[in-house]
Amino acid sequence: MTSSSGTGPYDVVVIGGGAAGLGASIALLHAGVENHVILERKTVGASFDAWPAETRFITPSFPTNSIGMIDLNSIGIGFSPAFSLQVEHPSGEEFAAHLRGIAEFMELPVRDHTNVKRVTKSGDVFHVETDGETLEARHVIWAAGEFQYPKLDGFPGIELCRHTATVASYDALDGDDFVVIGGYESGVDAAYHLAWNEKRVRVLDSEDPWGSESSDPSIALSTYSLERMREEPFEEKVELLANTRVAAVTQKGDAFEVETADGRRFQTPVAPLFAGGFDGSHKLVRDLFELREDGFLLLNEHDESTVTPGIFLCGPAVRHDNHVFCFIYKYRQRFAVVAKAIATSLGLPAEGLEQYRQWGMYLDDLSCCGEECAAC
Ligand SMILES: Cc1cc2nc3c(=O)[nH]c(=O)nc-3n(C[C@H](O)[C@H](O)[C@H](O)COP(=O)(O)OP(=O)(O)OC[C@H]3O[C@@H](n4cnc5c(N)ncnc54)[C@H](O)[C@@H]3O)c2cc1C
Repeated sequence: MTSSSGTGPYDVVVIGGGAAGLGASIALLHAGVENHVILERKTVGASFDAWPAETRFITPSFPTNSIGMIDLNSIGIGFSPAFSLQVEHPSGEEFAAHLRGIAEFMELPVRDHTNVKRVTKSGDVFHVETDGETLEARHVIWAAGEFQYPKLDGFPGIELCRHTATVASYDALDGDDFVVIGGYESGVDAAYHLAWNEKRVRVLDSEDPWGSESSDPSIALSTYSLERMREEPFEEKVELLANTRVAAVTQKGDAFEVETADGRRFQTPVAPLFAGGFDGSHKLVRDLFELREDGFLLLNEHDESTVTPGIFLCGPAVRHDNHVFCFIYKYRQRFAVVAKAIATSLGLPAEGLEQYRQWGMYLDDLSCCGEECAAC
């Protein structure tokens, strides 16, 4: 990994050394944008390293091949976790190691242990404030992800719950009787591992994620989870409560009570696990963007702010219309779009990005029908 010690001005400062930051950096290199740096508050792949030990990718990895099909979990052309890790469903730790291997092989300009506190713009220059210094940049790519910014509000007493993002290992959790709030991927994953540890689990969700008929895995559960839900320990130990909105959590002595909006009460001796999602790091730069009605950042067709030209968003928080880019195989589609916009603004031809088309990736815009078809 090369390290860069200057303070700029850089053509681009990328914030976050995860899947999105690295993928964007590779696309920048393909576009001929070399004068950039990746600022990473911990080390490359830190969020994946922090996944619960038992959690594995739900999206399967299968090697990229020569006829234009790229591994679902690949962050860039020429890389395949299936090929390098020899596993179909990598653990977080394995995937973090894969990312570090890419950073090293590509000599990506990562600066580890550099926490970004604030981004501002004056004139044409961005000022990226870290714990120790301020860097200048012509463009910024915000790719700081969401895992390190778990959702911590939603109902009174949420502070009594434990967010699944803070669980190092489900095997090591004490207790026999768990309530999990949130029944999408993380909630089902938690219930699955607890059930295999012979724990009783009740999963509460305000909607009915197990009954969704959508073909989009950003909305419905993945086949990986559906298969695991049919395994005997899950069927025996896990009770799924759909349309059960949690109104409050209270502590009664050593126990906890979960009260629902329709007046039901569930007692549990263990702090409820909250699998309710993430606020996302993009909140840190929201003053540089307009907001959509759903609170996500409003982006133009190049994933750039509509009010502060030059700052771009990469990663799972990208939204366009009703499209949710929350998996690698979705948000990587936007890396070349962002790199091309930046290269064009720097007067570079970006010819090296043409190869992205052959791998089915976007270069210009959103090339989809935008309707309720199986692909959209
Ligand atoms: C349990 C779980 C299972 C998942 N399974 C899958 C799956 O099967 N397939 C899939 O495609 N996706 C999956 N995802 C989603 C996947 O984790 C995200 O797509 C991915 O982590 C997003 O990558 P990212 O680079 O945007 O964010 P991250 O991986 O979080 O990377 C962001 C980086 O930015 C750094 N950072 C944060 N704030 C700052 C700051 N202020 N200054 C400097 N650096 C900062 C962090 O240290 C981190 O390294 C899963 C997520 C979870 C939580």
